[in-house]
Amino acid sequence: MAVVCSNCAGKLIFNPATQRLECATCGSSFRPEDVEDKNADLQSKYYDTRVYVCSHCGAEVITSDTESSTFCVYCGNPAIVFNRIAKEYRPDGLVPFQVTKEEAVRYIKLRFLRNPIIPKEIKSKCVPENLRGIYVPYWIVNADFTEADYIKGEVKRGKRTETRYYSRAGEVKFKNVPIDGSNILNDDISRKLEPFYLEDAKDFDEDYLNGFYSNTSDLNYFDLRASTAYRCHKLFEDEVVKTVKARNIKIMDSIYHVDVQDDPIYMMMPVWFFTFKYDNKPYTVLVNGQTGKVVGTMPWQKKKIYSIAISVFVLTLALCAFLSWASINKLLGMSSFYAQGFAALFTMSSIFFAKGFTGIRRILKNLKLTQSEAIFKFVRKRQE
Ligand SMILES: [Zn+2]
Ligand SMILES: [Zn+2]
Repeated sequence: MAVVCSNCAGKLIFNPATQRLECATCGSSFRPEDVEDKNADLQSKYYDTRVYVCSHCGAEVITSDTESSTFCVYCGNPAIVFNRIAKEYRPDGLVPFQVTKEEAVRYIKLRFLRNPIIPKEIKSKCVPENLRGIYVPYWIVNADFTEADYIKGEVKRGKRTETRYYSRAGEVKFKNVPIDGSNILNDDISRKLEPFYLEDAKDFDEDYLNGFYSNTSDLNYFDLRASTAYRCHKLFEDEVVKTVKARNIKIMDSIYHVDVQDDPIYMMMPVWFFTFKYDNKPYTVLVNGQTGKVVGTMPWQKKKIYSIAISVFVLTLALCAFLSWASINKLLGMSSFYAQGFAALFTMSSIFFAKGFTGIRRILKNLKLTQSEAIFKFVRKRQE
């Protein structure tokens, strides 16, 4: 299964920085395509894998690297045990990891950890040893798609607002639509992780998996068709809305149909997982292993969110009071120049106040997605 170094029989690990397989024992390195895996049957549709199962959440993960399977990448519990050797469907290709573990840590730190309100104990957990690289299965699909939409919008006529109705219909030939191939990741999360660029894709070679985990696709044809239809529908909807010149646009009804073309391509995409526990809840932050894009949110200490909201509120109140004081002063002969300045300041602080709140709402929503119960659909499914 796992290939060994031809010089010393040490274990080989794929290094994203050099794109080579490296031997930790003697330091030799090899190109993945030059390493011959004597056990692999390239003609076979299947390849051998070692399946590990988390006895806490039921997640399954495949790895040849037994030493690294010390905790579950999905729930953070150290309850992962070897389950069986299995034959898995051989992917057509994969995008090798290009972001190293150390780079992934740096991206997470840049994105989140410079913020002073992130709890210190989380910062200390964000170290390379706590990251796991997983190849996530995707189907790359070509599809013929048709859709018709009935849309409502508002237009201004002088001072009146009128409701208008629009219809739009079209036909699109979608090429290379990426469909998340496992029930592992929540679809919202996998969409946020994209794009992956297929230009860097290689023919599938088990050697790339050395040192990493992988998952296999558990989608059947009907799931794949449904996911494709939904994905194309969302893309179509985004474009259709742009063609309507109105406000408060709402799609009232849409009918669509998809024909998935034969032989979708089965690919593995690289994703770094950083799983940690905070307040006894598991959280996961993901990093696209090709582009370095970070997806997720850190758990904010809720009282800190409130204290920020309150201080913004107090500031607004103070400005408000100041403004009233200023306008009284104006009555008493203060120049209107200053009064205007205060008015502008007041408007600005109100805008910041409103923006602060939508920002907090967005963070709370993202936070929900980061909590592992929401990020991994299957965990919930299996616990029910
Ligand atoms: Zn060696
Ligand atoms: Zn688990």
